[in-house]
Amino acid sequence: MKLREFDAYKRLPLPVVSADGCELVLEDGRRVLDLYGGHCVNTLGAGDAKLGRILSEQWRTLSFTTNLLDHAPRREFLAAFERNLPAYREHGDDGWQVFCSNSGAEANENALKLALASTKRRKVVCFKGAFHGRTAAAAAVSDTKLPAFPASPFEVVRIPWCDVAAAERAIDATVGAVILEPYQSLAGVTEPTKEFLDRLRSACDRTGAFLIYDEVQTGNGRLGAAWAVQHFGVVPDVFTTAKGAASGLPIGLTVARSHFAASVPGNMFGSTFGGGPLVLAAATEVSRRIASPGFLQNVRDTSNALRVAALRGPIEKVRGAGLLLGLVVKSDVRAASVRDALLEQGVLVGTSDDPQVLRLSPALVLTPRDAQRLADALETLEVKA
Ligand code: PLP
Repeated sequence: MKLREFDAYKRLPLPVVSADGCELVLEDGRRVLDLYGGHCVNTLGAGDAKLGRILSEQWRTLSFTTNLLDHAPRREFLAAFERNLPAYREHGDDGWQVFCSNSGAEANENALKLALASTKRRKVVCFKGAFHGRTAAAAAVSDTKLPAFPASPFEVVRIPWCDVAAAERAIDATVGAVILEPYQSLAGVTEPTKEFLDRLRSACDRTGAFLIYDEVQTGNGRLGAAWAVQHFGVVPDVFTTAKGAASGLPIGLTVARSHFAASVPGNMFGSTFGGGPLVLAAATEVSRRIASPGFLQNVRDTSNALRVAALRGPIEKVRGAGLLLGLVVKSDVRAASVRDALLEQGVLVGTSDDPQVLRLSPALVLTPRDAQRLADALETLEVKA
């Protein structure tokens, strides 16, 4: 009998045997600086000792139990997660409600389900270049090359990113939700203008559509603020996250303003694994660490150091915020060739859907000192065309 995986991923030639903080250790003992951080997952770096102790203790105490039972890790998670949440003024701040699932796609499915059920509408506005996941609803609002399913579960209007006029035309009283990544990461870390977000917020207020931020990548301290919500100062009705929220364990979170959450029956959501004690113990530690003194300042300082380090050799421009950075390569080189050359110099970075843009999304415990390794590698780079 033979078993092979689907060829979903083009694997890199990197024989990794272990990881330590922000470094990958290869079979031959070489250490590679990981500036990709497992696609924004490794918030605390690989093998964080305290998180390891917490997980092993939680496994011994209560490894898993049904969602029909309450447990201390859930209560602790709610308290720790609440501390980093944004406040809002409109409609009166009656707090947030969260549903725990297992992935970014699931978190987005639940956000869309909530918005369409609450508004009793069937249309969603989304953006060119967006990526929200691979399940039916998440794929319907993603701008992928291959069609995911034969039909969309709802009507979709896809408009150009940051096109204020098109957005205002599209968002009317038939639209149930507007979903966006505060930074479009896979598209090449493309930034919205504050005016664009403000105008989306006003259009949603005017028409009753839900404004949904997909913070699967931008959340959990990634931009140097707990959430993109605080980074931009424009508050959505619902936001979602996943990836870095439990620093390596699968998690999806759908977070809605309480008065919207109350507009649908809670039992329209459900998950076997979501909200289990082990994953919530990890998510609690991530939330506490994000709130701890100096954590977000380190993200901002390291971001500044990486920006300076990156501007040399084949790199023409740096965009993004915090530790979600897009490095725009000069027009005569391709980002993938720079990625390959950097790998030979012992630095792992990501590519994006834009052939001219590399992505950095390292662990948030990377320090400004580590940026020098990127600068040294870029100085000595020989990029093959
Ligand atoms: N949303 C964004 C912005 C993402 O980058 C991703 C994954 O890359 C997803 C949603 C889907 O997350 P998952 O792969 O956990 O389903």
